[in-house]
Amino acid sequence: MQAEFDVAVIGRGVVGLAHAFAAARAGKRVVVIDRNARATGATIRNFGFITVTGQERHAMWPLARRSRDIWAAVAPRAGIAVEQAGMLLPVRRAASVDVLQAFLATEMGEDCQLLTDTGLRRQEPNVPFKPALAALASPHELRIESRAAVPMLAAWLQNEMKVTFADPTTVLHCETGRVETSRGDVRADAIFVCPGDDLNGLFPEVMARFSVTRCKLQMLRLANPGWRCARPIMSDLGLARYEGYAALPEADALKAQLKVEQSRQLDAGVHLIVVQSADGSLVVGDSHDYGDAPDPFQHADIDQLILDEFASVCGPAPASIERWIGTYASSPQQNWLQQEVSKGVHLAVATCGAGMSTAFALAEGAVSAALNTTLKEI
Ligand SMILES: Cc1cc2nc3c(=O)[nH]c(=O)nc-3n(C[C@H](O)[C@H](O)[C@H](O)COP(=O)(O)OP(=O)(O)OC[C@H]3O[C@@H](n4cnc5c(N)ncnc54)[C@H](O)[C@@H]3O)c2cc1C
Repeated sequence: MQAEFDVAVIGRGVVGLAHAFAAARAGKRVVVIDRNARATGATIRNFGFITVTGQERHAMWPLARRSRDIWAAVAPRAGIAVEQAGMLLPVRRAASVDVLQAFLATEMGEDCQLLTDTGLRRQEPNVPFKPALAALASPHELRIESRAAVPMLAAWLQNEMKVTFADPTTVLHCETGRVETSRGDVRADAIFVCPGDDLNGLFPEVMARFSVTRCKLQMLRLANPGWRCARPIMSDLGLARYEGYAALPEADALKAQLKVEQSRQLDAGVHLIVVQSADGSLVVGDSHDYGDAPDPFQHADIDQLILDEFASVCGPAPASIERWIGTYASSPQQNWLQQEVSKGVHLAVATCGAGMSTAFALAEGAVSAALNTTLKEI
């Protein structure tokens, strides 16, 4: 491996790839180093749902809008298909309608619509929606198939943006100008460390200072239900979880009602996202279980809570054809951890469940500030 670069990036998940892309736009010679030959972490296990509507209002919502624009520009160049666009959130409680109305009165509601049950069925006539009091329709989201798209993004960075991907190599230590790996040293003026939820590897003391832990999620793929939906689908439970809605005062009544009516789902951190793949199958999730070393098992009772919510919104659930768990880094203190840990060495961790939706924008800002340069337009 060539051992000298302008920029070294540790981690080939979406956070690492976003930093590599930004550094390549700055005209730098970039190397990406990962212990695995392909992404196997959170980035490849997620829904591929680039979510704007519902993100935390002040920091995350603007980051998500910008990241969505970058995804929209990069996807066609990298050959990545956008499988779905926008989002539908049908609700079955009056308290949820109040939250949606309050949300629409904020700047975050721009270009979103509140549909009636009839309007929902008119827009998505194939989906056997259960009766809804109303539905939020957002035009802002994109959905890609992560397991195909992330390797395509890496290949495009390598072939078109001239980013070097090192052979699988564990990074043991980073300091100013130097990355020590299991295959020898790499020298780089700037180093971006993007290790995801590897809490006890690089800079564990910084991870500990921000109380970074792991969040474990259960996910399912269901067989093609025989209908098609142009947009990802969410439900009432999302209004109590996504900060853009949940932080509104109107959400308090809904949260209290859900505590009574769906306490098992709330205890397991279950809410509903349904996305559809090109072959018609559905990726459905998820649950949230926090801890430094969550068990690696997929619990049938938690899957059932997810499937029950699916059935309450979309009708009978088709057979499960795949099940998996994923973990991401999580901090109760902030949604992103960004620290210059020593001169020229920058730690970047998405400490929320929205790295896929925000990494491009965050990396763009971080790299241009760290390298004190403007990036080429996309
Ligand atoms: C099931 C699930 C569903 C999700 N759904 C969504 C969604 O729909 N939308 C959304 O916005 N977000 C979603 N998220 C969150 C999102 O996937 C994460 O925020 C994001 O992928 C984190 O990316 P990352 O690059 O930090 O981590 P990762 O993808 O985990 O990558 C980290 C990489 O660093 C490497 N690494 C770590 N330490 C070292 C070392 N010492 N040496 C070499 N390599 C190292 C690892 O091998 C790994 O490849 C979801 C997460 C999960 C788990």
